[in-house]
Amino acid sequence: MSKKKDTPRPLPESLHLPLTGTDSHAHLDSTGLIENLSEVMDRARLAGVAHIGQVFLGPSAYHENKEKFAPYPGVFFLMGIHPCDAQECTGAVMQDMRKAFQNDPDLKAVGEIGLDFYWHDCPHFIQEEAFRLQLALAVETCRPVVIHSRDAATDSLRILESEGFAGRPLLWHCFSGDAVPLLDRILANGWHISIPGPVTYPANQTLRDAVAQIPLDRLLVETDCPYLAPVPWRGKPNEPSLVVFTAMTVAEIRNMSPEELWTTCGNNALRFFGVTA
Ligand SMILES: [Zn+2]
Repeated sequence: MSKKKDTPRPLPESLHLPLTGTDSHAHLDSTGLIENLSEVMDRARLAGVAHIGQVFLGPSAYHENKEKFAPYPGVFFLMGIHPCDAQECTGAVMQDMRKAFQNDPDLKAVGEIGLDFYWHDCPHFIQEEAFRLQLALAVETCRPVVIHSRDAATDSLRILESEGFAGRPLLWHCFSGDAVPLLDRILANGWHISIPGPVTYPANQTLRDAVAQIPLDRLLVETDCPYLAPVPWRGKPNEPSLVVFTAMTVAEIRNMSPEELWTTCGNNALRFFGVTA
């Protein structure tokens, strides 16, 4: 009896994309990635990923790990209290974040912030309060925001519109099927949208149909690693190099050359976050 072997998977560099791409959302300070940072960064470069948006889930993660990214000038930072941790959003934490945003030009956006009604870790009213506080922080420190919204698109939109965020720089991260019914409103508000690995999953045709409608100049791609690896690496740990497979699928959906889609989405990310190439 022979054990079922893993079929060989194509390597990200086999797509031969130019070094012009951006993974707009990565958690490189996660276990499994931070210990192997230099290899992870080498593989990203080899695949064509020139820039990575590193997301710190609050000021302790930021203070603890930011220095580890000093050797990698292509990495820029985001910081925010995730809705599942909204209880941590105390006055002291807000003050800590305010200072960091005032002092560190590498901190390009407040995020990921928003609402998560999928997990039941945190009461909704506490999530909403933390969300509103951090939206105000973004306005105060002149940063764009990056939104995490899971099973909560209607409420996220209500809060964002009531806080005056229509027309402000905003990236809807990890865009998924649950936000598709509200795509028209997201687009009408002038916001950007970042597409994660699940766009490659066979069941997600609704998401693929939505991706076809997003204006090209507002489209970004991301890994959200270490989770959500795209096909053909689905089920394996995710990392920035694998975002090329997500871009490949998005290019197919839009009938574009992978190189053009890759470079355009990369440039969109740099423009959105105010990163100079
Ligand atoms: Zn994330």
